[in-house]
Amino acid sequence: MNRNGTLVVFSGPSGSGKGTVLGEYLKSHPEAAFSVSATTRRPRPGEADGVNYWFVTRERFEEMIAKGEVLEHTQYNGNYYGSPAGPIREQLAAGRDVILEIEVDGAMQVKERFPEALLIFVMPPSFRELERRLTGRGTESREEIQGRLAAARQEMAMAPRYDYILVNDDVAGAAGRLAGLIQAGKWVPARCGELLRGFLEEE
Ligand code: ADP
Ligand code: 5GP
Repeated sequence: MNRNGTLVVFSGPSGSGKGTVLGEYLKSHPEAAFSVSATTRRPRPGEADGVNYWFVTRERFEEMIAKGEVLEHTQYNGNYYGSPAGPIREQLAAGRDVILEIEVDGAMQVKERFPEALLIFVMPPSFRELERRLTGRGTESREEIQGRLAAARQEMAMAPRYDYILVNDDVAGAAGRLAGLIQAGKWVPARCGELLRGFLEEE
């Protein structure tokens, strides 16, 4: 059976463990493609162009928007972030699942334009645990952590608009459940249009 891949949108508060869980999932699912976003923010130490992000200028990003080269985009902390459309369409057509790790505003744009996209919201087991993880990661100042905790409350309010909630209690368990959700999501009738039409159009 030849099917397109599934477009998977993965969101959740900063520090909920999106990167960690996705890393674990991709280790055992090398057939899935991670969509490398474009951004105007500066690379952090250890980040590489084309691996973590495509790091571009504001001029280039605005050109990408004007030419329709991004599937969705947003501004976050004064910088542009967006998902390059070309590679996503190519990978989906080749039958690969494509995973977008993006914030809630971009996720809602994807939901609007691609109703068949599968939206998964990652949350930590508790607010206190989120605070512990952000502090433990040690990549932001105290003020930045407070800002992210405040943002987390707003982001959590968007969770009901997603298809599934993934509680990241332990990493291996969450990565395993993510695999189950992606598999289950493929068989919702709304994502089986081609399959169902194919049957009806058969001679
Ligand atoms: P995000 O990508 O959502 O911002 P990260 O993947 O960077 O979050 O995780 C935030 C911090 O929490 C990291 O230090 C990571 O090692 C830790 N972490 C992630 N998942 C878990 C988990 N299930 N249990 C304990 N710590 C975790
Ligand atoms: P960071 O600067 O910490 O890497 O990312 C900041 C936020 O931007 C995170 O919530 C991340 O998920 C989100 N993000 C990363 N890439 C994209 C993208 O292409 N589009 C949107 N809408 N958000 C993105």
